[in-house]
Amino acid sequence: MIYIISFFRRIKFKSAFNFSLIIAIFSFILRGQLDSFIFTLTTSVFVFQFGSMLVNLWDRSQKTNLPCPMCSYEHSVLLYPSKKKHIDPNFVGSYACSSFDHGKYPDIRFCPICKNGFLSHLIGKERADVINAGFHMYESVIDSTYIENIKSRYRTYKNIIQKYNSYFKNKDILEIGSYYGVFINEVQHIAKSYTGIEPSNHGCEYVRNKYPNISVINSNLENVMAKNLLGNKKFDTIVLWDVIEHLSSPIDTLRSLNKFLNDGGHIIFSTINIESTFSIILGPFWPWFMDMHYYYFSDRGYVDMLHRSGYIIKAHHHFKYFVSIAYFIQKVISLIFDIQLSNNHLLSKLNMSIPIQLGDTVLVIGKKERPS
Ligand SMILES: [Zn+2]
Repeated sequence: MIYIISFFRRIKFKSAFNFSLIIAIFSFILRGQLDSFIFTLTTSVFVFQFGSMLVNLWDRSQKTNLPCPMCSYEHSVLLYPSKKKHIDPNFVGSYACSSFDHGKYPDIRFCPICKNGFLSHLIGKERADVINAGFHMYESVIDSTYIENIKSRYRTYKNIIQKYNSYFKNKDILEIGSYYGVFINEVQHIAKSYTGIEPSNHGCEYVRNKYPNISVINSNLENVMAKNLLGNKKFDTIVLWDVIEHLSSPIDTLRSLNKFLNDGGHIIFSTINIESTFSIILGPFWPWFMDMHYYYFSDRGYVDMLHRSGYIIKAHHHFKYFVSIAYFIQKVISLIFDIQLSNNHLLSKLNMSIPIQLGDTVLVIGKKERPS
């Protein structure tokens, strides 16, 4: 029952329209009447929207005393029950960017006000332990699958840099979470300067070997702030690729980054969207529900987050990313059968990249609103 209710929790007009369109097309195929198509489309949109409104009213009447860590609303509700009770501090692999440890998560909660989802760990007494364990795991991670598929990732960032060139060309750039340097590989030729911050020791070593002239600080952002490792340096553009959903307090992080931006500078991040049609179809099986992702943002969620951190939103777009065919097959097998294929001889031949755009990843651009 909770899965049906949570389906309606996540519905918004766009997804209601998409689902209704699918139903209306089936209706048209069966009956062959345009009137039937239009009637089914409009009625279904109304039913989905009305269902969503009723669930939201019911959610707002709940008194759970389990607050939303993003907007502080006092009574978040359960979105999906846990599929793994406790985080395993020894399983560093689950914190790799290319982790196949999908579908294993603690309770996922949902805020009926800001519509963000988040892990129950963030508001439990285990919060500090989980965050500390996360720091440790990121520092120790060695992501060989990511390195094997790194060429596809270069294409992803090549595309992004071409499309958003004005934010990078001749700009002073700070990247939070350089990881294995895929963004560096593409941006180094056009940026005025580049500075990276990366907690993974192996990631930093890889970048320092491959790009000896590039400056990457091997630390997490909290340490960099506490020890003032950036000094008074300011940047035109700060980027966080697939990082913000891993942060325990994203608003605090965005606020603290604000002071490192020049007036009129931009912050750009990519993240996952809990309201996308694709993610709603998959429900609790959406592969990005996993214990290394603390937050699952709604459209309203990242607009509010930027506004509360001192930025105005300039754009949010879906973007396509590239993966190798071998990696794609490994992911699909891992999701459906929960088994991890090793990169065998046959798979290693399938290294051609393919574009993926399922609408559940977004690129968000904010402009610094307040002078620091
Ligand atoms: Zn909230």
